[in-house]
Amino acid sequence: MDGQPLYKRVLLKLSGEALMGPGEYGLDSNTVKQIAADIGSVVAMGVEVCVVIGGGNIFRGMKGAAAGMDRAQADYMGMLATVMNALAMQSALEIAGLPTRVQSAIPMASLCEPYIRRRAQRHMEKGRIVIFAAGTGNPFFTTDTAAALRAAEMSCDAILKGTQVDGVYSADPKKIADAKRFDTLTYLEVLSQDLAVMDAAAISLARESKLPIVVFNLHRQGAFASAMRGEGPYTIIR
Ligand code: UDP
Repeated sequence: MDGQPLYKRVLLKLSGEALMGPGEYGLDSNTVKQIAADIGSVVAMGVEVCVVIGGGNIFRGMKGAAAGMDRAQADYMGMLATVMNALAMQSALEIAGLPTRVQSAIPMASLCEPYIRRRAQRHMEKGRIVIFAAGTGNPFFTTDTAAALRAAEMSCDAILKGTQVDGVYSADPKKIADAKRFDTLTYLEVLSQDLAVMDAAAISLARESKLPIVVFNLHRQGAFASAMRGEGPYTIIR
């Protein structure tokens, strides 16, 4: 490897839970800071980075619906949770000296920009990190689908999915000792084996847009930058 990044423009997908760190709810400031530093080292490689953050550390629509709420109403609450996470990540990135814009799929003029594709592209061309908040802006969707959608709209070269482990396994490696990690998978293998990576809508959209998905361990410091150089361990879906 000559240390050069394999991709020029990528979308990083973070689940809300990734921001909890050792906690069970909300945001852990050290974890957010570490992720900001990792994003910074990829930006320093000359890569254009945009980010989609989930909201599961604060609120999930399905949970609200299970407790008797109207599903769409609960999903809007979930989308608001992603905006809080996006603002927290913007803060951490700016403290690290990285120019960052938040664009929300649900306009919130006092807090951030509305999602405007061409404007987001321009920010990226200027080297700014763009965080896409509020998912797709529609209930009944997930931030995984939002990640595939925005990556396609931004003409990204890959989706980088940061998770708790080093890629996609045949079973949960935290529970099954001999679970096998896949180096590569096809989109159809992920769908037909129902592997828990991203939901089916996101995988289908990535497949249609020919967007590789690189699944790596978000909590291993420097893993994002290593994945950009093609250095594992990770799983690539293509
Ligand atoms: N959500 C939604 N539409 C979207 C994206 C998200 O309604 O386009 C809602 C949904 O209720 C979801 C919540 O926002 O449960 C948080 O997003 P997600 O579960 O994808 O977060 P993650 O699992 O990545 O933390």
